[in-house]
Amino acid sequence: MDIDSRVSREEDIIQIYLRPLAARWPGALELRDDCAVITPAPGQDIIVKTDPIRAGIHFFTNDNPDDIAWKALATNVSDLAAKAARPFAYTLALSFPRIPKHDWLSVFAKGLEKAQSAFGCILVGGDTDIECGPLNISVTMFGEIAKGQMLKRGRAKPGDSVFVSGTLGDSSLGLHLRKSNNFRNMFSNYADAALERYLRPVPRLGLRSALRGYARASMDISDGLLKDLQRMCSVSGVGASINARELPLSTAMQHVAKLDFRQAISFIAGSDDYEILCAVPPEDDKNFIAAAHAGCVAVTKIGEFSSDPVVRLLDDSGAHMNWGMDNLYFL
Ligand SMILES: [Mg+2]
Repeated sequence: MDIDSRVSREEDIIQIYLRPLAARWPGALELRDDCAVITPAPGQDIIVKTDPIRAGIHFFTNDNPDDIAWKALATNVSDLAAKAARPFAYTLALSFPRIPKHDWLSVFAKGLEKAQSAFGCILVGGDTDIECGPLNISVTMFGEIAKGQMLKRGRAKPGDSVFVSGTLGDSSLGLHLRKSNNFRNMFSNYADAALERYLRPVPRLGLRSALRGYARASMDISDGLLKDLQRMCSVSGVGASINARELPLSTAMQHVAKLDFRQAISFIAGSDDYEILCAVPPEDDKNFIAAAHAGCVAVTKIGEFSSDPVVRLLDDSGAHMNWGMDNLYFL
C-alpha cells in the first residue's frame, strides 16, 4: 500500500491494522464478530475503566501516533494499577475526523502493539468511524483482581499517611514545554525528560502488590494532586495536610522550584501525572515503602489525612500556601 494512501474501508482498518493485535485472545474471535467473550478466572473480579483521549485536549493532532497509542492505553492502565488490578484486555473505539492515512494507522497500530505488550493486555474488540470533530480514541480496559480486593478511593481515615508514587508536576511541565519554544529554551537540559512524561506516562503497575498489602484507599493522579486528593478526601469524609517541601520532584521540577517554588506548585496542581495517590495506616509506612521498592516504584509520604475536611498545603513553618494555579507567567 502506498505510504500516503488513505484507508477508506472500516473492514480494512480492522483486518489490516487491528486484527493482529487481537491474535492471542480466542474470545476476540479475530475481530470478525459483533462482540468478544471474556471469561473471568475463578475467584476473580473484573475491573473496568473507560477513559477516552481527544485531539486538542489530551494530545496534539501532530503528536507521533506511536505516542498517542501509548497514552490511550496508559491512561486507562494507570487507573487499574491504582486499584491494584492486573490489566488483561481492552476495546478500542476510533473516531476519525477524515479517512485516515496508511502511514498514520501503521505507526499507531505498532504503538498499540508496544503498549499492550508493556502493560500485559490484548485488544479484544471495538469500532471505527468517521465523524466531524477531533480524532477521538476511546479505550475500555478490563483488569482482574481477587474477588472483593479492589482498592477504593473512599476509605482513607484521619491519621493515615498520604503517599504518592514517582515525582509530580512533570507532565504539566512537559505540556508547557510542548506549547512554548521560549519556555523550552529555559529548560533545554531537562526538556526531553519532561516531554517524555507528558507524551508517554508510565502506569505504576509495579505498585500493585504494595497497594494490596498496605494501602487503605488508592486512586491515580490524572487530574492533578490537588483535585484528586480533594476527591479522595471528599468521598472518604476526611481532609489532608500536605507538606509542600515533601512533594517529590524530578531534576527538571527541582530546577523549576529553584527558579520559583510557587511555579513548581502550580505544575503539581496541573494534570496528567498518572502517579498513584494512596492512604496508608501510619504503622505500615515502612512496610509499604519497602514493598513499593520491591516493585521498583519510589513512593513518598507527603502528609497526613485529618478529620477536618479541608485539603491544606503547608510551608516549612506550617503556614498555609495557595496551590498557585495563577502562576503560569513563563508562558
Ligand atoms: Mg484516574
